[in-house]
Amino acid sequence: MMLTAEDTDTDVLASLEDEFPCADSRHPSGQSYHNPAQPAEFVLINPCCGDRALVCRSRAYYLKYQAAEIHCGRCHEVWPPDRYRFVPISPKVAPL
Ligand SMILES: [Zn+2]
Ligand SMILES: [Zn+2]
Repeated sequence: MMLTAEDTDTDVLASLEDEFPCADSRHPSGQSYHNPAQPAEFVLINPCCGDRALVCRSRAYYLKYQAAEIHCGRCHEVWPPDRYRFVPISPKVAPL
């Protein structure tokens, strides 16, 4: 699936199906708060490149409320979490 910075959130949501793995599954559970039992529930959108990553609820919660900063996965710029957007991938997903 190719996504560009011009895609709207609606396009992103429409292109997603039911369950996706968390993109941060390489992070062990524990300090990073990735939960291997959870599918991805949020699209994490970075402020510089518009890069998107699917993350599980536990990881999204950690990134939004507990991480000091988040690296862009594309250009490796560092931003505070409040510059990122966390978009639920489905209307069934409760907000963070
Ligand atoms: Zn995860
Ligand atoms: Zn970037």
